[in-house]
Amino acid sequence: MLEKDIKAQLNQYLELLENDIVLKVSAGSDKVSEDILDLVNEIASMSSKISVEETKLERTPSFSVNRVGEDTGIVFAGIPLGHEFTSLVLALLQVSGRAPKVDQSVIDQAKNISGEYHFETFVSLSCHNCPDVVQALNILSVLNPNITHVMIDGAVNKEEAENRNVRAVPAVYLNGEFWNGGRISIQEILAKLGEGPSAEDFTDKDPYDVLVVGGGPAGASAAIYAARKGIRTGIVAERFGGQVLDTLSIENFVSVKATEGPKLAQALEEHVKDYKIDVMDLQRAKRLEKKDMFELELENGAVLKSKTVIISTGARWRNVNVPGEQELKNKGVAYCPHCDGPLYEGKNVAVIGGGNSGIEAAIDLAGITKHVTVLEFLPELKADQVLQNRLNSLPNVTVLKNVATKEITGTDGVTGVIYTDRETGEEHNVELEGVFVQIGLVPNTEWLDGTLDRNRMGEIIVDKSGATSVPGLFAAGDCIDSAYNQIIISMGSGATAALGAFDYLIRN
Ligand SMILES: Cc1cc2nc3c(=O)[nH]c(=O)nc-3n(C[C@H](O)[C@H](O)[C@H](O)COP(=O)(O)OP(=O)(O)OC[C@H]3O[C@@H](n4cnc5c(N)ncnc54)[C@H](O)[C@@H]3O)c2cc1C
Repeated sequence: MLEKDIKAQLNQYLELLENDIVLKVSAGSDKVSEDILDLVNEIASMSSKISVEETKLERTPSFSVNRVGEDTGIVFAGIPLGHEFTSLVLALLQVSGRAPKVDQSVIDQAKNISGEYHFETFVSLSCHNCPDVVQALNILSVLNPNITHVMIDGAVNKEEAENRNVRAVPAVYLNGEFWNGGRISIQEILAKLGEGPSAEDFTDKDPYDVLVVGGGPAGASAAIYAARKGIRTGIVAERFGGQVLDTLSIENFVSVKATEGPKLAQALEEHVKDYKIDVMDLQRAKRLEKKDMFELELENGAVLKSKTVIISTGARWRNVNVPGEQELKNKGVAYCPHCDGPLYEGKNVAVIGGGNSGIEAAIDLAGITKHVTVLEFLPELKADQVLQNRLNSLPNVTVLKNVATKEITGTDGVTGVIYTDRETGEEHNVELEGVFVQIGLVPNTEWLDGTLDRNRMGEIIVDKSGATSVPGLFAAGDCIDSAYNQIIISMGSGATAALGAFDYLIRN
């Protein structure tokens, strides 16, 4: 079942097991059951600390990872290979007694949770966002006996996924009800369960010299540059890492030949935490006002004061804003082809947008789905010619140019797209089950309405040192009016804004 290299790696990890564990398998006579039995028996043969028992679990095939004499509540309904292999290895180690690699505050909050929480996460083995969610919920399950977690491979449990209308992964259910779609960190899960910091935790904070709002590449770089000047620096971020967390592979971050988004995001956070920077993660800013100092109000009601502020709140996927988009999100309307493509195997889908990301998505989806329809508003595609050539070579793609998407139809799930031919004005309907929206990004600056000057796209207008129209207020990254949005460019503008803020501080 396991390839030679993986087995060698696993052997090393199994050396780290601290106590005995029991894998309980619920198997039938189907092929996946056979494969699960092969997998657990192979793993058990590699360590004297692992034993296998047959049992009956809620789903067959599946298996649970337990302490001796105590069910931990961690179940894998599917074969956790591919991206989920790490989730299996970590579950083995953590159930055996090895402490999970999370802050003590997270451990304390997890242990604090009272009440019964039964989580189920639908995944696909090619989804790069899924393992983080599976691993976070498994950690909670290891730490708190009232929490259980089942990883459900949607490809193996097709009927259940279809019955529950799962069209995007990771999809987390709590006590039988849909609870969260997409990537979510352990801190975010805890905050959502009511264990996050409250306004009182912020009341005694002294004013900052530089307060950075946003924890993507721009914010991280700004905070590090400011802290290196020896001034009091804080950073508030709704989700540390920003868009990088949603990025599969990064090959243009100069000096690092290739990396993955979550890895780079972790490196950013570690680098920031290496300095004396007050990191306030999972906090959303909602209002900024300049009095004798800047006052930044957070969603939880806390107010932070600072002499200068750097806005680096980045950008998010642009919505197509037609009827059906919001209603059918995660029920056929998707934004991440890498994550959700496998759920549309053999089905008809559409990609809205003919730029680079749209055409890359269409090429990717053409390999999995039955047919892809690309809808482009303009008379020509905007993607690079090399991508267009590749697209044109594919037999199962139709490109519709000069069309306006009018509606995404369906009630429990997407059933089609209605579009208008912009030349003839005629309306058409394409029957399909998934729509991937790929029409670019919109800056996260609405919350600053009336505070500073922005262009018609909502991007913050800055000068060459990152200064905005308000003295002492700087901005950087994807939320500013720069020509291009890239990691390396955001980091550069973050550094510029921090140096600009320092310069402002020494002159004022
Ligand atoms: C799928 C995808 C693939 C990409 N691939 C590449 C690539 O290969 N190479 C490359 O160079 N670039 C790539 N990019 C672009 C790159 O990720 C961005 O240019 C970069 O992340 C921008 O950094 P940023 O810090 O300006 O903003 P973001 O990364 O968007 O970070 C914004 C931060 O602000 C926070 N925030 C937002 N609103 C608030 C608020 N009100 N209060 C508090 N915090 C807030 C967010 O939580 C986040 O922490 C990709 C982008 C996407 C979406």
